[in-house]
Amino acid sequence: MLSEILNFNREFVAQESYIPYQTTKYPDRKLAILTCMDTRLTHLLPAAMGLKNGEVKMIKNAGGVVLAPYGGVVRSLLVAVLELGVEEILVIGHTDCGVCGMRPEVMREHLLARGISPETLEAIDREGVVDLDAWFTGFAGEEQAVRDSVAMLRSHPLMPKDVAIHGLIIDSNTGELRPLDLQTEK
Ligand code: ZN
Repeated sequence: MLSEILNFNREFVAQESYIPYQTTKYPDRKLAILTCMDTRLTHLLPAAMGLKNGEVKMIKNAGGVVLAPYGGVVRSLLVAVLELGVEEILVIGHTDCGVCGMRPEVMREHLLARGISPETLEAIDREGVVDLDAWFTGFAGEEQAVRDSVAMLRSHPLMPKDVAIHGLIIDSNTGELRPLDLQTEK
């Protein structure tokens, strides 16, 4: 799989296929998007929103959610706002998200089946490294997950109040955007 990619890459560079993508690290639209890593959205989401390379900071994880107030997502968004000129943040959930309904007991079974020992899981549980059951629990619904992430970002003590934070849902098949929670212009 990787050798195929590396072969393609040599050609890509040799043919100067990168030229249409050249831009700067500053997002031209002053926009950051937090969304899901779902493969259906990789090209569909920017295409459906008319976004080109260089226009937006894209942050992705499973579910497109802010899990922790001082985790990687908030850190990335703060870098985007403070260093890279982002003025607006869109949290975009999507229909049929795999994280919806994710269950910790199933994740534990997957781990055991993949060779992680029961002792390792017990040690993590016992030592309180992380609450695995909470960590592996999916959200009950896409809409509520977006609303929760938007609320956490808006109330975050380090988020400047002039940053507009909106919540939307995108249809994973058609790319149709549905506004959920739009911050009114200030
Ligand atoms: Zn998803």
